[in-house]
Amino acid sequence: MLKEYNPYLEYKGDDLYLDDVSLRALAEEFGTPLYVYSGSYIRDRIRAYTEAFPEALICYAVKANFNPYIVTLVKEEGAGADIVSGGELFISLRAGIEPSKIVYAGVGKTVKELEYAISSDILMFNVESLMELEVLDELAGKLGRKARIAIRVNPDVDPKTHPYISTGMKKSKFGVDIKTAKKEYEHTKKLKNLQVVGIHCHIGSQILDVSPYIEASQKVVELYYDLIKEGFDIQYLDLGGGLGIKYKPEQSNPEPSDLAEAILPVVKEVKAKIILEPGRSVVGNAGILLTQVQFIKDKGHKHFVIVDAGMNDLVRPAMYEAYHHMVPVERKDRPYIKTDVVGPICETGDFLALDRELQAVERGEYLAVLSAGAYGFAMSSHYNVRPRACEVLVEKGKYRVIRQREDYEYIVAL
Ligand code: PLP
Repeated sequence: MLKEYNPYLEYKGDDLYLDDVSLRALAEEFGTPLYVYSGSYIRDRIRAYTEAFPEALICYAVKANFNPYIVTLVKEEGAGADIVSGGELFISLRAGIEPSKIVYAGVGKTVKELEYAISSDILMFNVESLMELEVLDELAGKLGRKARIAIRVNPDVDPKTHPYISTGMKKSKFGVDIKTAKKEYEHTKKLKNLQVVGIHCHIGSQILDVSPYIEASQKVVELYYDLIKEGFDIQYLDLGGGLGIKYKPEQSNPEPSDLAEAILPVVKEVKAKIILEPGRSVVGNAGILLTQVQFIKDKGHKHFVIVDAGMNDLVRPAMYEAYHHMVPVERKDRPYIKTDVVGPICETGDFLALDRELQAVERGEYLAVLSAGAYGFAMSSHYNVRPRACEVLVEKGKYRVIRQREDYEYIVAL
């Protein structure tokens, strides 16, 4: 069952291993909470995309996991970057990703961020409002540059995912309405420092059924032909990211090849390059959060396993009531009990699992929280003055620390 999450995750004897490295040994050497990522898995996932979409540009969504070593690894596999901030641009460039493979979305780009990206000559700004078009034009003019743009359109397709990560609906803050997008495209004709090169859409995240992608790409292709007729030179269709991953044991998830089967027939006549922006489906199941059991507490009607990873380390359960599967790092025969797995933070929402059937664990033992590679460390914080976790990259039996554990001095240093 573990191999369905990640083929490099397995028990050897009674110890859990990731990419041929013992997780218990890592927890003992580096302490917990500890994020561990499988390099082999991340490489496989980028290759799965490039094989399914041989003509496309795969821009890894840096927001999912911005660790510079991870970004370098996806770059080594030929991926570009999808960014949403100046910080993500900095990390992408530092990892050696060519500007010609970087696309930049986001509803609230600042002047400083726009100038940085214009000067870096990135492939394309995915512009989210009319006002952003005007500001970008003005800034590009000042810098004596032309900024290549796509307009992010909202196809009003329901991706059937959590409302917080559903981004392509009419009511969402993202993009412009696809029905009126021609107006924004027409407006660019007055803006001399912009060059329209594409259409962008991203309908949401953790999408487990590919049919919304078909509907969204059909709408985007319709707009493509309309714009071509109006004389626009649309060279890129950026169809975003969002492919879902396995979180629950009973869940099955689509592969990049399923996405290709859904999308490619819709775009096959189109003479534009396809761009995809996968994040979660590249790194999500590459990663594990290791946590140590601190206390067991039985209140009669309720049982708690209290661990040293809190919502400041992994906020997804608190934020989206997300399910993360958990297994003990040491395998042994023991009964299952129904328990809440909770962290040390002073919030009732600080849980990793509620009413979970978990094998009875003891104080001091390690638990592996699965599917933690995406939006895990990336969303972590210092809440309750907790230094952020250490991150380790493992690959074929080798390991290296890719981010040291913070300490109290680090937190107050600035
Ligand atoms: N592209 C854009 C514009 C996004 O907003 C996101 C996520 O929110 C992604 C790509 C990556 O999505 P995912 O990690 O679900 O693949």
